[in-house]
Amino acid sequence: MPATSMEQLVSLCKRRGFIFQNADIYGGFQGLYDFGPLGVELKNNLKAAWWRAMVYERDDVEGVDCAILTHRKVLHYSGHEDTFSDPMVDCKDCKCRMRADTLKDGKCSECGSTNLTEIRQFNLMFKTNVGPIDDGESFGYLRPETAQAIFVNFKNVVDSTSRKVPFGIAQMGKSFRNEITPRNFIFRVREFEQMELEFFVEPGTDLEWHEKWKEARLKWWQEQGLSMENIKPVAIPKEDLAHYSKATYDIYYKFPHGLEELEGIADRTDYDLANHSKNQSEFKISAHVHDKNVDSNSKLALYDEEKKEWFIPFVIEPSAGVERGVLAVLTEAYTEEKLENGNERIVLKLKKHLAPIKVAVIPLKRNNEQIMAIAHKIKKDLLKLGIGRVSLEDSGNIGKAYRRHDEVGTPICVTVDFETIEAEPASVTIRDRDTMRQHRVNLIDLPDYVKEFFS
Ligand code: ATP
Repeated sequence: MPATSMEQLVSLCKRRGFIFQNADIYGGFQGLYDFGPLGVELKNNLKAAWWRAMVYERDDVEGVDCAILTHRKVLHYSGHEDTFSDPMVDCKDCKCRMRADTLKDGKCSECGSTNLTEIRQFNLMFKTNVGPIDDGESFGYLRPETAQAIFVNFKNVVDSTSRKVPFGIAQMGKSFRNEITPRNFIFRVREFEQMELEFFVEPGTDLEWHEKWKEARLKWWQEQGLSMENIKPVAIPKEDLAHYSKATYDIYYKFPHGLEELEGIADRTDYDLANHSKNQSEFKISAHVHDKNVDSNSKLALYDEEKKEWFIPFVIEPSAGVERGVLAVLTEAYTEEKLENGNERIVLKLKKHLAPIKVAVIPLKRNNEQIMAIAHKIKKDLLKLGIGRVSLEDSGNIGKAYRRHDEVGTPICVTVDFETIEAEPASVTIRDRDTMRQHRVNLIDLPDYVKEFFS
């Protein structure tokens, strides 16, 4: 059974060092979380899996890593300055502030009052001064999505790689949104990471690619351990589409607090490239351009050699949140088990490639020099395999070590005991996280065994 309540996850994450409330010693900074010693590993493993699938394993995608601080014109012509907002209301009775589109029957979600203010639009972007002069003009934004930096670099990437459609540009990194009501642990936060691909295609082939990307992304999430019964792709009805989108699938996941968006896959048409381009009359573009006075110097277009004309590609955008991904894999992996002896255990059944610690090496006696020396050597040898973090335990309490490693999802523990130093040939105990079965492996075969286990 996956986790059924957010409290189970919040408690495990704090207890074992996955995720902490930001600035908690000062009472907490709302909507911000920090990843701890194991959280950073899990998050990096998820991002590495995405990068591998989106960039390394494909022949049609390039990667970029662009600045977070964003030129105001980029977010003006993308439409964010005008439209990236949520409707906000205040309750005049309990003074709480909320998103107007989340109200039920027009009542305050905290106290049920209908005594609410008028709805106002609240822009979600963080504006910040850039440079030493605060003249009201020298400002930029913290990017609210990674996508725009990809669009404005379109020409740079095409010119430097000679790419032709269909091809994509991928980016992972921080995004910032001043959410009105951040909530549900790391589900809705003000600073988060996105994993975004902008996949450029010939106009007319976009709907076909939209379907392909939906399938590819569903498959990827399953490879991260999410089961299909907890995932639901939803085609957004026409009337609810974002202004730039012709069609969107949202991939919903059954989080502990409900079925909610994990990833969006939008057909963004030529909206962004067209809006960032100059002299649009030269191109065959749709009516999407919302401001005819675009002042960028780039034609974000491709030349069709056969037709002898310029065209602006359409874009399919699979856009996933790292924090929501982490929350989903934790939800799915969290398991409370009743053991045959009547005891209970919590085990995090993470996919091996996501596990923060791959192997825990546990010396049975930490004051035995021979045992410690072998344990150190094992750690060193296993690290050379490049499988990720191998940790050397020194708690001296094997039962506690197994329990801890079950809870943090370590796939195998290697125990160095007296048999290791006394018997011939030298061997160690391997304990499997999921089955709890133990068996012995000869020390000399250990690296091959571990390599095979993680391959
Ligand atoms: P929502 O409707 O939940 O606010 P959205 O539709 O605005 O999300 P997108 O703009 O499509 O989200 O962003 C792509 C992805 O980025 C989302 O699917 C989600 O995984 C992630 N994301 C967006 N906003 C947040 C946030 N405030 N906190 C954490 N992740 C977020």
